[in-house]
Amino acid sequence: MRTIAENLARVRERIEAAANRAGRDPQTVRLVAVTKTVEPERIREALDAGAKTFGENYIQEAQKKILVLGTQASWHFIGHLQKNKAKYAVRLFESIHSIDGFALAEELNRVALKEGKVQNILLQVDLGGEETKFGVPEETVIKICENISGLEAVRVKGLMTLPPFSDEPEDSRPYFKKLRLLQDRLAELKIPRISMEELSMGMSGDFEVAIEEGATLVRVGTAIFGPRLPKR
Ligand SMILES: *Cc1c(COP(=O)(O)O)cnc(C)c1O
Repeated sequence: MRTIAENLARVRERIEAAANRAGRDPQTVRLVAVTKTVEPERIREALDAGAKTFGENYIQEAQKKILVLGTQASWHFIGHLQKNKAKYAVRLFESIHSIDGFALAEELNRVALKEGKVQNILLQVDLGGEETKFGVPEETVIKICENISGLEAVRVKGLMTLPPFSDEPEDSRPYFKKLRLLQDRLAELKIPRISMEELSMGMSGDFEVAIEEGATLVRVGTAIFGPRLPKR
């Protein structure tokens, strides 16, 4: 088995190669090392090997790890966020990738105002139309951006998507393309306080395709930390 440092080096090489293929500067792609179910000691190995940004899916799990590992890293929330956890999310995370409706943005705004913070968020877009997926339907993204634009303590930085699961990376490409087109459309609208600099897309199985299609944040877990144990 390879070490976390070796895996990380390999993922970085693949990111660089994909960016080069697409004629992009590899520096414009940020690696979010996804650490759900990964123990703090193993996250420490990744930190020591130069990982700077981590992605967590569950508030309680993240809270414990951030307490141990401190704020030397930047933590991103990528899981489904319940409104009643908004307070913790604002305290712990630099960015929240998974905003799936106006009500959640409104709650984050309320908490962020109280905490004296401006919270960066991404809108999770449901492009697959699958019942199991969270996210804003494509048709309502513009409307939600217009509404969020009125909230002073949250900033939309871009879009995130999670395509339907597939073993074939190319199956994700149409979804990534779609998200990129939506990003372009939104950017043209120049909605106040809504910027479209980030595209969070691509995981262990398809991050290279995502980079070719414009990803600026790739969320990679298994390729760095190995397979996750089934949920306890
Ligand atoms: C778990 C998870 C990832 C990472 O998945 P891997 O296939 O392990 O790279 C990325 N994004 C989200 C939203 C996740 O829940």
